[in-house]
Amino acid sequence: MISRNRNGEIALSHLAPFEERVWLSSPTMHGEELQYVKEAYETNWMSTVGENIQCIEEEVCEKTGVKYGVALSAGTAALHLAVKLAGVKPGERVFCSDLTFFATVNPVVYEGGIPVFIDTEEDTWNMDPAALDRAFELYPDVKTVMLANLYGVPGKLEEIKKICHAHGAFLIEDAAESFGATYKGRQTGSFGDVGCISFNGNKIITGSSGGILLTDDRLMADRVRKWSTQSREQAPWYQHEELGYNYRMSNVIAGVVRGQLLHLQEHIDQKKAIYMRYKEGFKDLPVTMNPYDEKNSAPNFWLSCMLIDEAGMCRQVREDRQAHYTPEHGRSCPTEILEALAYFHAEGRPIWKPMHLQPIFRMNPFVARLGNEKAGTDAHGSGKAPDLGADIFSRGLCLPSDNKITPKQQDVIIEIIKRCFD
Ligand SMILES: *Cc1c(COP(=O)(O)O)cnc(C)c1O
Repeated sequence: MISRNRNGEIALSHLAPFEERVWLSSPTMHGEELQYVKEAYETNWMSTVGENIQCIEEEVCEKTGVKYGVALSAGTAALHLAVKLAGVKPGERVFCSDLTFFATVNPVVYEGGIPVFIDTEEDTWNMDPAALDRAFELYPDVKTVMLANLYGVPGKLEEIKKICHAHGAFLIEDAAESFGATYKGRQTGSFGDVGCISFNGNKIITGSSGGILLTDDRLMADRVRKWSTQSREQAPWYQHEELGYNYRMSNVIAGVVRGQLLHLQEHIDQKKAIYMRYKEGFKDLPVTMNPYDEKNSAPNFWLSCMLIDEAGMCRQVREDRQAHYTPEHGRSCPTEILEALAYFHAEGRPIWKPMHLQPIFRMNPFVARLGNEKAGTDAHGSGKAPDLGADIFSRGLCLPSDNKITPKQQDVIIEIIKRCFD
C-alpha cells in the first residue's frame, strides 16, 4: 500500500510530482508533417483529394503488403464501411472481440448487427480461438467476425483466420492500435478480409485523426471509395443508387500522416524500450507485463500494461461508476496505482472495460471457452469466478507509455508503483 500522511494525502519521501504531465500516449511531431501540410496549403489542395492522400494510401499498402488502401476520416469510419462490406443485416449476429475499445463494436451496431462477445485468451489478451470455436457451435449461422489486436499486440491471427475460413465467415481485423506490428513476419491489418488502421491522436502514429481501410479485393476498395464520397454513381449528374457517407480523409490530415509514416519504426522502437524498461523495473514485484507471443509476433508496444498477480491484489470493488479498495501492506490494486500516478502527474488508464460488462450490451450474448457466460463481474469483490476479460480488467492497468517519456521519468514511475506494494 502507498504511504499517506495524517490527512490521508499521498506522501512518498524523495518523490515529487512531475512538473510536466507524463502522458499515456500523446502525439509526437517531427517536422516533415508540417512540410506536407504546407505543400497542401500552398497549392490549394485543401480538400479530400490531393497528393498526400494518394501517397499515404500507397505507402500504407506497401508497408502492410495489402493491395488496396482507402484513406478515411477515422478508424471508426473504416470499421463502419468494413461492416457494410461484410453485408451485416439488421438483427444479424456478429462475433466480436470482448476486451477492446468501444469503437471496435459500435459500427456493428450502426448497421443493426447484434454483437456476440467472444472471451479473451491469456497469451495475448485477444480473442480466444477456443471460445470462437465454441461460438460457432452455438451460432453456426454467423457470417462475420470482428477482431481487434489489443494495445498493439497481435492476436492468434492464423488460428482465428482458419476458424473463420472453416465457417465461411468474413473477418474484419481492427488493427487500429497495432499498425506496424507483425505476426509470423506479416503485418497486422493484412490478415482479415478487410483491415482497419487508425491515425487518431494517441495511436502509434497520427494525423490528429484519420484511418485507412485495407483490402486485397479491388471491387471492395472501389465500393468503399464510392460509399465514402456520398455514393455518387458514374453519371453526368449526381446519381445515387445506394446510401452514402462523407468519410473521406482530408489532404491536410493526410499530410500529417505522410510525415509521421517516416517515423513509424522509430516510435515502435521507443515504445518497445519503454515496455522492456517497465518489465525489468517490475521484476521483484508480484506483477507481469501484458503478454505477447515472443516467438511469432513483434508487437508495436503501443501501450505498456501491467497485470497484478492474484496474490498481490488488495481488495478492490468496482461499482458502475466508482471504485473502492482496502489498502493493505505488501499488496496493491489498479485503483490505488492509478490514484498514485495521477497524484504525481502521470497518466495511467484502466484496461478497457470488457464489452460484455457494459450496460449498453447487458442483453448481448457472451461466449467463453468453458461456458461461464456472464459468470462474474469482479474477481475481488463479488467472489464469483470471473471470465478472463473481467479478470484482466480487474487486475490490469495501462502505464504511461508516451514515446517522449525519459528513462529518468520512467524510473520515478517504477518507484511510485513499487511503493504501492510496500
Ligand atoms: C482508436 C481505436 C479505434 C477507432 O479509431 P478512430 O480513428 O479513433 O475512429 C477502433 N478500434 C480500436 C481498438 C481503437 O483503439
